[in-house]
Parts: sequence; structure tokens; C-alpha cells
Amino acid sequence: MSNTEVDAGGTATSTLKVTVDNSLCQGHARCWHIAPEFFTLDEDGYSSIGTGKPVPVGSEEVVRAGVAACPERALTIEESA
Ligand code: SF4
Repeated sequence: MSNTEVDAGGTATSTLKVTVDNSLCQGHARCWHIAPEFFTLDEDGYSSIGTGKPVPVGSEEVVRAGVAACPERALTIEESA
């Protein structure tokens, strides 16, 4: 069984998904500093990744590092089956 999926845009994504809890996010942007292509921010500097953002294949390690860097523990990473 493959551990990748292809989304509607044709981008291969891993089985990892990341969610931000915007009630915890304080806009430190540490996630963005580590992986700006994944951890988008809104105009006020708060995370805008939303719920269950799929992690592209090949970005798993840097995205995990970005999640770990959040001092507010506002980011959660989950593996879908
Ligand atoms: S590092 Fe954490 S608190 Fe800072 S912007 Fe990213 S999600 Fe928000």
C-alpha cells in the first residue's frame, strides 16, 4: 500500500496532516521561519494553515521541525491511515 496520495492539484502529499489551534497561536512565526513554504501566516503574523493541511512528500522532516518549534504547542501533526 502506498503512503502517498495525490491531491486535486496533482501534488503528491504524504499521509501527514497539520492543524493549528488559533486559540493558542501567538504569532511568533517560528514555524514559518523553519518552513515558510508550508507554515503560512496571515497579515497579522498568525498561522493560517487551518485544519488538516496535507504535508507534501519530501517535506515531512522540515514540517515536523516546524511543529516542534512552536512554543505555544499550537500545532498538531497527525498521520492518517
Ligand atoms: S510558531 Fe506557533 S505560535 Fe508561532 S506562528 Fe507558528 S503556530 Fe503560531
